[in-house]
Amino acid sequence: MSPRTWDAVVVGGGPAGSIAALRLVQLGHRVCLVERSRFPRRALGESLTPGVIPMLESIGAARRCVAGAERVHAVRTRWEHAHDAERRDPEGRGLLVDRGPFDAALLAHAREGGVDVLQPVSVERATERDGGWSLTLTTSDSGPRAIETRFLVDASGRRSRLGAKRRTTGPRTFAVHGYWRGRDLPTTPTLEACQRGWVWGVPIPDGTYNTLAFVDGADVRAERPGSLEAWLIERLRDASLASQVERATLDAPARVVDATPYLDEEPVSATRLRVGDAAMALDPLSSSGVQKAIQTALAGAIVVNTLLTRPEDSQLATRFYTDHLESASARHQAWTAGHYAAAAPRFDSAFWRVRGAGTTEPNASMLVGGTGPAAPDDATLTLSPLARWVEVPCLGERFVELRRALEHPGIEGPTAFVGGIALDGLFDGLPPVFTAVALADRWSTRVPRDRGLAIARWLSSRGVLTILA
Ligand SMILES: Cc1cc2nc3c(=O)[nH]c(=O)nc-3n(C[C@H](O)[C@H](O)[C@H](O)COP(=O)(O)OP(=O)(O)OC[C@H]3O[C@@H](n4cnc5c(N)ncnc54)[C@H](O)[C@@H]3O)c2cc1C
Repeated sequence: MSPRTWDAVVVGGGPAGSIAALRLVQLGHRVCLVERSRFPRRALGESLTPGVIPMLESIGAARRCVAGAERVHAVRTRWEHAHDAERRDPEGRGLLVDRGPFDAALLAHAREGGVDVLQPVSVERATERDGGWSLTLTTSDSGPRAIETRFLVDASGRRSRLGAKRRTTGPRTFAVHGYWRGRDLPTTPTLEACQRGWVWGVPIPDGTYNTLAFVDGADVRAERPGSLEAWLIERLRDASLASQVERATLDAPARVVDATPYLDEEPVSATRLRVGDAAMALDPLSSSGVQKAIQTALAGAIVVNTLLTRPEDSQLATRFYTDHLESASARHQAWTAGHYAAAAPRFDSAFWRVRGAGTTEPNASMLVGGTGPAAPDDATLTLSPLARWVEVPCLGERFVELRRALEHPGIEGPTAFVGGIALDGLFDGLPPVFTAVALADRWSTRVPRDRGLAIARWLSSRGVLTILA
């Protein structure tokens, strides 16, 4: 068979792969996605942070992907103190999903959007040649065949075998986990610190309850647990979760997975880019792996479009993507360190000694929201003295471009656009004090008033606009 040629081949049909592939088609490329598993299949990452829904909305996939998901209104925690507390979010912006149907719906959305999907097909080998790639594919019922592509997007997840070069960004961590089915299972997610690590309980919309115990890598190696099920139950007994599953049985054998955070050392080259867990993995404490996978996919597609169609800007694009991942990883490490430091004084074990040295103040849970409320629309505001303008490579709608962007500790990196509106110029000639309503009126020649008001509220919720005392 003669090899087919694509502008881009995406390896992996998890959230990162489906979204990167769809965006590349929308940017005008011929794209093939190769996924080795039959869907639906189980996957970890069932608690989704509030940032996921707006990103799914931006690609028109929210309704079908969150059908059947549960909203998170509260998380039971036992973290800083030995007693229960509840983190509430009345709006229920976090979600609990069953990743089987969730990932299948995203992949179906990409297929309907024009992505050619090969499934179940595995990429066995990727060889770079003549400014592109030759990929060897296998299926269970046919021999190997080859496809050619100008560009390779690696979205093959944590277990990527496509030449990843990773540096760990946190202590070696393993998760022992199991899905329970039975009576009286909790209906609220639970986060609990305990002597040898922490546990996380997640009610899955399919009626099961996933319990995960996170432990230090050295702990698993030293103990070499015989029965994983017994070991999981022992860890749940260290916390209060064992009593919550005592009238249930494991739905499938307990498993152990590596949960160590890392960053790929070469996430982008002229002909290859990694997205999602293939590029970086976060400490699962924040439950934001899927959100970050989607963010890297949305950003990565624009980087690939720049590399394929504006080679003169390739340095700009690769610098943008490398810096974007580095700073996201650093910010996340600081956030995680703060959270571990809050619980560490309660325990004396290797797990907490290694992780408890952080000094950052803990933030609100990422799962139930991480930003403050916006100031009232008629409050007197001023631009924070910490805000400054910088010229940096930024994500435009289609390309990585040099733009004036706003930098402030409350926002993720220099920001040139909010909700698709360029910030550049909006603050020129601004009086020293104003209200959100006055800003929206002032901007209304460029930005619809409701969106101007939304931008002002967003900036005040991040502390970029502060209330004048
Ligand atoms: C213990 C643990 C708990 C977690 N909990 C959470 C959580 O609560 N919330 C959260 O948001 N995140 C969580 N995460 C992180 C989350 O699981 C990942 O960040 C997310 O799934 C990454 O999505 P992805 O698309 O990059 O990769 P994946 O979802 O892993 O998808 C990769 C896909 O690539 C396919 N593939 C791999 N190799 C090949 C190949 N050679 N050929 C073809 N196909 C291939 C695989 O079959 C798979 O479908 C957790 C992670 C761990 C380890």
